[in-house]
Amino acid sequence: MKIGILKETQKGEKRVSLSPNITKQLISKGFKVFIEEGAGANSSYLDIDFEDAGAQIEKRGVVYKEAEILIKINPFDDEDLKLVDAGQVLISQLYHKSNPKLIEAISKKGATAFSMDAIPRISRAQDMDVLSSQNNLAGYKAVILGAYEMTKIFPLMMTAAGTITPSKVLIYGVGVAGLQAIATAKRLGAVVEATDIRSETKEQAESLGAKFISVDNEGEESAGGYAKEASEDYKKKQQEAVNKSLFQADLVITTANVPGRKAPVLITKEQVAQMKNGAVIIDLAAAQGGNCELSKLNEKVIVNRVKVIGTNIAPESVATNASELYAKNIFNFLVHLTDDEAKFKWDMEEEITDETLIVKNGTIRKS
Ligand code: NAD
Repeated sequence: MKIGILKETQKGEKRVSLSPNITKQLISKGFKVFIEEGAGANSSYLDIDFEDAGAQIEKRGVVYKEAEILIKINPFDDEDLKLVDAGQVLISQLYHKSNPKLIEAISKKGATAFSMDAIPRISRAQDMDVLSSQNNLAGYKAVILGAYEMTKIFPLMMTAAGTITPSKVLIYGVGVAGLQAIATAKRLGAVVEATDIRSETKEQAESLGAKFISVDNEGEESAGGYAKEASEDYKKKQQEAVNKSLFQADLVITTANVPGRKAPVLITKEQVAQMKNGAVIIDLAAAQGGNCELSKLNEKVIVNRVKVIGTNIAPESVATNASELYAKNIFNFLVHLTDDEAKFKWDMEEEITDETLIVKNGTIRKS
């Protein structure tokens, strides 16, 4: 089957949905790979690298014409859909629940679409889970970004001129991004504390060397391993438990999300007013509304000498690794969906296929 890899057109996006390494692996599985010229340039993958891996480099229009499966990272848009024909298979993140117009437009084209953000969070789908592969890098990059914005270093340093005490880092949300943020801040020598509404995360945080701040979460039980929306009572108890650490923190990283909902506001402007001079908040939930009341997406807000940075560009800023991991997720997904001759199995009873297949030959299956 012929696969077409398209250059991402969303502003600021540097990633590409395939790497030269994974191109080789797909070809060995019987796929033919077309790459839009320059698609990997911002991820440091050149056309020649893809060519050496066995892909054919083509102009955008040719890729659309030749490919049976078209692959992107960001959702297909109106410009993309102009070039899509009935029967073609589209694979990208679609966020179908919040994007009904896009799903309608794909359906009108008579195309088929799989959504990578709808991969179920089950053990056997872990190697296809793009939310995890990208959030893991976001957790790492949040610490690096924070370190750059801080006016202090992370580790304890004993010098002839005196001793520097280690920085204090506080992390809200111990999911995929939060765990990587803990590990990264610890590696750099910070003293790390973390909190999460799900009490099962205590052990995970502690195993990475963080001190866990427990909040009485009776009545806040999680659903299928995921947080549900916190009650006002929980948020109050959380503030009381966390405030001492928050007001002493040099860097705060917030990653708290509730699937399908706006992100919970966990840090109010009144709390920010009591934080240390020079403290930095990196809010990774800014695109979902933000965990800090003062966050603005992709802006640096400075209030009372505290920097509040709302960002969603973390995976893009480490595009080489982010593309490689996204590509590996795509490879595992395609291998899962196809047989030994690289043909779709269309096993609609199977959970991963069922959950991710949003439109089939123009018929909307999930909304
Ligand atoms: P997420 O991005 O939805 O949320 C991040 C964290 O924020 C979660 O740990 C959540 O409990 C926390 N949170 C939500 N509301 C909060 C509040 N009010 N206060 C404090 N914390 C709050 O989550 P995620 O990173 O996608 O992962 C969630 C869980 O799913 C993890 O346990 C992870 O190991 C698991 N997971 C499983 C798979 C799989 O099996 N395929 C894949 C990915 C993740």
